[in-house]
Amino acid sequence: MNIIFLGPPGAGKGTQAQRVVEALNIPQISTGDILRRAIKEQTPTGVKAKSYIDAGKLVPDEVIIDIVKDRLAQDDCKEGYLLDGFPRTVPQAEALDTFATIDKVVELDVADDALVKRISGRRVCLNCGATYHISRLGDRTTCEKCGEPLIQREDDKAETVLNRLSVYHSQTAPLVDFYSAKGNLHKVDGAGDMDAIFAEIMKVLKA
Ligand code: ADP
Ligand code: ADP
Ligand code: ZN
Repeated sequence: MNIIFLGPPGAGKGTQAQRVVEALNIPQISTGDILRRAIKEQTPTGVKAKSYIDAGKLVPDEVIIDIVKDRLAQDDCKEGYLLDGFPRTVPQAEALDTFATIDKVVELDVADDALVKRISGRRVCLNCGATYHISRLGDRTTCEKCGEPLIQREDDKAETVLNRLSVYHSQTAPLVDFYSAKGNLHKVDGAGDMDAIFAEIMKVLKA
């Protein structure tokens, strides 16, 4: 099954994607994680993407489309995949249609005020992509899954978060209509408890 997770920054895409890919045994393709890794390794793509990400803007469509197209052509995507953070613009969605067939689009819906709280307390592992929140971390400073140190993303700092939300509403939210029109959009309330949201997503994917 080929799945897209759609939703604003902080909606829980990464958190739920990690659970879903484990349950379905398919790869999670997180464009944010791919770009952060490229920045860390200072690849040409990373160098190009950094200024956009730090400013809370989207990296140019042509950069990200090529990355995703190459990634989906790899062997491990043959039995399905979960796209987390792509597409984020209508041109990206149109490009995706030329090289992929999407079965289900899950929209995670969360109000902006809750998103700001989630994002400002987010801590991430740059090694494996795991995501945490300070309210549940206690004294822990390293990743539960791989032991690497947890960090606060530069673009999760207050100044950039509001930019990212406004970019979402203007550039990404139109994809809700784009996929509704195709008939494969499934809206899930992302405001509740993580386990309940996961159960709801699995119900949608199995239906
Ligand atoms: P979040 O999980 O908070 O929504 P991501 O980790 O998905 O954030 O993305 C972080 C940043 O990486 C985005 O703000 C954007 O600059 C860049 N990015 C990720 N995916 C895309 C994409 N599909 N198109 C353009 N930029 C992207
Ligand atoms: P996204 O990938 O959509 O940007 P994340 O999965 O990284 O979102 O989640 C953003 C923050 O919110 C993280 O700190 C995460 O631990 C927390 N979070 C995720 N789901 C929930 C939830 N259902 N309730 C409360 N906090 C959540
Ligand atoms: Zn980790």
